[in-house]
Amino acid sequence: MSPKSANVIVIGGGVLGTSAAFHLAEAGQDEVLLIDRGPLASATTPQAAGQTGYLNVDRFALRFGTYCIEFFENFEQRTGRVIDFRQCGSLRVALTKPFQKDLEARHAAARQLGHDVEFLSPSRARELVPTFDPPGGCRILLIPRDGYVEPKSVAVAFAAAAQDRGVAIETRVEATGLRIKDGRVTGVRTREGTIAARSVVLAAGAWTRQFGQRIGLNLRTVPVRHQAYVTGPLAGVLPRQPVVRITEPQIYVRQEAAGLLVGGYGYRPLSFDMNEFDAAFEVPSLAADPVYYQQLQAAATKFFPSLGGAVVIQERRGLPTISPDGRLIVSEPGGLRGLVVLSACGVGGIDRSPGAGRLAADIVVGGPPWIDPAVLSADRFGDDYATDRSLRARCEEIYSHHYHQVY
Ligand SMILES: Cc1cc2nc3c(=O)[nH]c(=O)nc-3n(C[C@H](O)[C@H](O)[C@H](O)COP(=O)(O)OP(=O)(O)OC[C@H]3O[C@@H](n4cnc5c(N)ncnc54)[C@H](O)[C@@H]3O)c2cc1C
Repeated sequence: MSPKSANVIVIGGGVLGTSAAFHLAEAGQDEVLLIDRGPLASATTPQAAGQTGYLNVDRFALRFGTYCIEFFENFEQRTGRVIDFRQCGSLRVALTKPFQKDLEARHAAARQLGHDVEFLSPSRARELVPTFDPPGGCRILLIPRDGYVEPKSVAVAFAAAAQDRGVAIETRVEATGLRIKDGRVTGVRTREGTIAARSVVLAAGAWTRQFGQRIGLNLRTVPVRHQAYVTGPLAGVLPRQPVVRITEPQIYVRQEAAGLLVGGYGYRPLSFDMNEFDAAFEVPSLAADPVYYQQLQAAATKFFPSLGGAVVIQERRGLPTISPDGRLIVSEPGGLRGLVVLSACGVGGIDRSPGAGRLAADIVVGGPPWIDPAVLSADRFGDDYATDRSLRARCEEIYSHHYHQVY
């Protein structure tokens, strides 16, 4: 049975909510309760490819990403818990001039920080990733600090580290609304009754916008479908080969067991209004879009020929959330005190979870935020994208150009 009160309630036990719970406890916050409508880390988080990619030309994103990669590198020291992080590096591949310029800017940004990145020849790239057939004229940047992490292991480790520090976790408890008095949150309504709380972190993933609507907030965060698939064993796949990201067709390919994991952006983008789903909907039952998978396979096979005959052994798909500028939302929305929204993962929530969870905790606790929170404010869109239609169209567009943006 859930407690009758807590100081802080975190709604949602995906990677963002569990990170917030850990960081709250780490900041000394007592009586933190995390609730989830399902089992922990059972929605979009376990579907992810788990790639980390910190290098950016945008200064805010670069600082944010650097913090996150350092956190992953030191996860056990920071939390006392272990994750399955493989720092195998990544190859970022640009086929055309505009994206080659972007690679050069990323190279310069990394070098300025003293980070070790280098351009590779196609033959060197082929040595590192034997299944990869780089096209002539492309440029390839090796980013050694990138890699990937088993995504569920991150949420589970954050949750365990939070529990180690006194956080209570209750699964199969659904928040149905908030109790609000004089513009301030005073509790969370659940099907079993109201739990009093001074602050609430809303990290409900795909359901965040819908939850906001119930309490009169128009949160600019929309679930957009993302799909990936995993093949059976393929000759030439190496256990520690770098992740390959190809900018123009927006595909990523990484090793998964003896096969490859393939994903990509902009293939038949589709956003959702969670009000259209049955109340009992759970992310693993999201319907597949076979055409998306076919398009993905056709695009990736041009660069990884053995994918042409590969057997698919697993499909992954879920509902990451997108904002109209592609950045996170980590903020108290105007007009409602005591609520911190933690959403709009931008299909990078695993990667960004350390920094996002810490900022949410900083806002709740009231200490100096570790990074400028204005950039991630829920109110930064003003009156823009105020209708469902304009918001969904914009977020689908942002998703469609994921690898073409600078953040
Ligand atoms: C195929 C695929 C590949 C991806 N690859 C990557 C990648 O390589 N790198 C990367 O960083 N990211 C990747 N992502 C994105 C990543 O999965 C998401 O950014 C991340 O999982 C979002 O976490 P979350 O905590 O916001 O959401 P979720 O994991 O969905 O968690 C939200 C939780 O809130 C709970 N909840 C909702 N409503 C309520 C309520 N009312 N009461 C109580 N609980 C509630 C849900 O049950 C759920 O557990 C990928 C995603 C997909 C689908």
